[in-house]
Amino acid sequence: MTNRELWEGVSYAKFAALARRMGWTAEYLAGVLRGKFEVRGETFEAYFDRVLHCRPGGEVVIPFRSVIEHFLVGVEHLARDGKLALCACGCGSFAGGGGRLAWETCSRKSASVAQLKALEKARRLRWERATAREDG
Ligand SMILES: [Zn+2]
Repeated sequence: MTNRELWEGVSYAKFAALARRMGWTAEYLAGVLRGKFEVRGETFEAYFDRVLHCRPGGEVVIPFRSVIEHFLVGVEHLARDGKLALCACGCGSFAGGGGRLAWETCSRKSASVAQLKALEKARRLRWERATAREDG
């Protein structure tokens, strides 16, 4: 689990993808988070309705700490139950619906480092099994 979201923010698309899996509605989110940050010119229901529908765009970022923390609790909850695939690079962030990498800096390089570690572990296990057979 990472808290990178706390300083990078969470995109509407990622939040909406998590909300779908958690069953969060605009009404629920407004009820839980009302008054914890400031929305201007709209109600909390209207704000979260926009977020869940990615208006004006899925790339728009939520900067509010209370909303991001709610997001992270949801991610942790689903990831702990094995119901959520996290970023392929191993950084611990939720990559969003269908996404394999969570951040632009989650490079192929870091992904291949994770893959190399997995390969190395598999090789070591094979080797341990092979030597165990020799011993027995
Ligand atoms: Zn990553």
